Amino acid sequence: MASASSGFCPQCGAPVAFGANFCRDCGAVLGENSSDTRTSGTTDNHPHTRLSDGTMVPGELASMGRRTVALLAMIVIYGVLNELPVIGWIIGTIAYFVNLYLFQRGQDIGARIFNVRIVMDNGDLAGFYTTFARGIAAIISILALGAGFWTAYFNDDRRTWHDKMLGTYVVDENSWNGNLEASSGSGAKIVFWIFAPLILLGFVYPVFQALG
Ligand SMILES: [Zn+2]
Repeated sequence: MASASSGFCPQCGAPVAFGANFCRDCGAVLGENSSDTRTSGTTDNHPHTRLSDGTMVPGELASMGRRTVALLAMIVIYGVLNELPVIGWIIGTIAYFVNLYLFQRGQDIGARIFNVRIVMDNGDLAGFYTTFARGIAAIISILALGAGFWTAYFNDDRRTWHDKMLGTYVVDENSWNGNLEASSGSGAKIVFWIFAPLILLGFVYPVFQALG
């Protein structure tokens, strides 16, 4: 884990909490991550974003346009696969497991292709459980006539309802100079263990159906 070597930010001098990943005043990345190859040299030139609560975070928020395209790409892919018997199920299942793999670092296939990444407000990448739980929480955003999605267009921090629920932001992958480690909260882990069996049933059911 990255940690501050002292109680003050080496860049701006603001006090930082012990173990903080980044300075909440200037966004400088603290601890071992500041020597990451992508952030060699001074941290001054790296992109930061001032959130509406005043906190400065590493990286730049991804544009809503790019996020929307990444989401639509996934919907179209799964929509097409759903129309194809057997081969659609096989590819869809493989795609889902690829997603589960990418969840470990705050992405799915769409996010990977369009270079966006989910990060936590503590400066870690969103971990497997957080990314999974965020996907489940997105159902609430959809059920509210999609309001959980489209309000993000008018929100300074471009946060969907499911971002707010999970404490996440979506950044442009190329701008991310924060922590490369991922983490998840305990609430997200509980959501996973509740929903994982249901999703597994969703995959297995068509097999039994095909077998008659
Ligand atoms: Zn600072």
